[in-house]
Amino acid sequence: MGSGQVTDWQGKNVTVAGLGVSGIPAAKVLHGLGAKVTVVNDGDDARARAQAAELEALGITVRLGDGATLPEGTELVVTAPGWKPDKPLFTAARDAGVDIWGDVELAWRLRGPDAAPWLAVTGTNGKTTTVQMLAEILKAAGLRTAAVGNIGVSLLDAVLGEEQYDVLAVELSSYQLHWAPSLRAHSAAVLNLAPDHLDWHGSMEAYAADKGRIFEGNRVACVYNVADKATEDLVREADVEEGCRAIGFTLGAPAPSQLGVVDGILVDRAFVENRQKSAQELAEVSDVNPPAPHNIANALAAAALARAFGVPPKAVRDGLRAFTPDAHRIAHVADVAGVSYVDDSKATNTHAAEASLAAYESIVWIAGGLAKGAVFEELVTKSAGHLRAAVLMGADRGLIREALARHAPEVPVVDLDRTDTGAMLAAVQEAQRLARPGDTVLLAPACASMDMFANYNQRGDAFAEAVRELGAGA
Ligand code: ADP
Repeated sequence: MGSGQVTDWQGKNVTVAGLGVSGIPAAKVLHGLGAKVTVVNDGDDARARAQAAELEALGITVRLGDGATLPEGTELVVTAPGWKPDKPLFTAARDAGVDIWGDVELAWRLRGPDAAPWLAVTGTNGKTTTVQMLAEILKAAGLRTAAVGNIGVSLLDAVLGEEQYDVLAVELSSYQLHWAPSLRAHSAAVLNLAPDHLDWHGSMEAYAADKGRIFEGNRVACVYNVADKATEDLVREADVEEGCRAIGFTLGAPAPSQLGVVDGILVDRAFVENRQKSAQELAEVSDVNPPAPHNIANALAAAALARAFGVPPKAVRDGLRAFTPDAHRIAHVADVAGVSYVDDSKATNTHAAEASLAAYESIVWIAGGLAKGAVFEELVTKSAGHLRAAVLMGADRGLIREALARHAPEVPVVDLDRTDTGAMLAAVQEAQRLARPGDTVLLAPACASMDMFANYNQRGDAFAEAVRELGAGA
């Protein structure tokens, strides 16, 4: 299929891998363009059958219960981002010389000639927050934009819909980047890089390489985290357009070509006339909601991308002030008897949990769930000084318990030995018992939720519900 736009889809045999949030719209769009679409799906349950019936009514072929075999005559595979690269379907496609595109690649290839440029964000943590901050800043500058990708508007809709955009703020996961070989952003940021999803990528190197794809072909700026050398290495390794600059962000004072913080002010020493001698004030730390260190880093990354796009300083401040975080991301639930209860259910890996544990002085930590292959040694070592106590639950809580026993034996631990949904109320009650006035009870599980809950939203809701029960009884 080459690397450019495909203009003639008429009669092309396209296999869409996976019924789901990306597969169904992709199948419909390709069908609408005249391609002969076959959707293959591993599952064959009632939901899949209903979805299949809807597509079949349009004239799309659907094969349920067989996501492994490549349909005869396939000229292109369009896959759901989550499908692992070592699946037999992909091996067969590669053997046959057939290209494999993810949802992002498809959207990228279907863009019109005057399409809005993309400002792209990836990283292990902070993507959604940063992209939303970025969209607010762009809007404050009067630009027509949307936060797209893993969130909000789907990329296909943004690219093909009626709405006209000047620029898009695009969140990209490592999976999506893996399957998006020809994507070329205006500018991009890698916020941080910590082990996550290693079971999918196979190794840390492969994970980092996929994240690094976001910088390939950037035109104006590659934004990296000064405190995370791995992100800077990715910039160095990337093949970018002539004149594209490496821009760092730091919580300290910025060097030339960096954005940073001086005396509580977010400053830009990258997109200014004389960066050796001068710096531009953008906003105050208190304009960032919440002003926790990792979130200030997110704000700086968003500001760097916006400034790379030519947005004036005032819009950075106005956009940051307009931003409100999504639910379950360091959300303050309530104060009960002088103790603050905070829901960071979205902290589904150790790196995220480390950031939120660093944001409070004295914490009763509620943690546990599915570890996804993670180790907890570093998290516990770095966070021990902030821990009043820990309450553990979920399938892999033993790993956290052992890490605490090794590296923070003085921290009292309650092991709930439960993986049922009701365990959250028990956890919150235990936490209340252990907390002293002025403490924070922090749900930052460092694990995925699926052993006990449908998703992290439900886990966070259960926490908030339990806190409300405490409040009612107080
Ligand atoms: P993502 O979209 O990458 O999952 P979110 O913005 O939804 O990121 O934040 C997920 C969680 O990661 C938050 O609940 C918070 O605990 C943590 N987090 C957010 N930003 C950062 C950051 N820059 N560094 C470390 N952890 C972060």
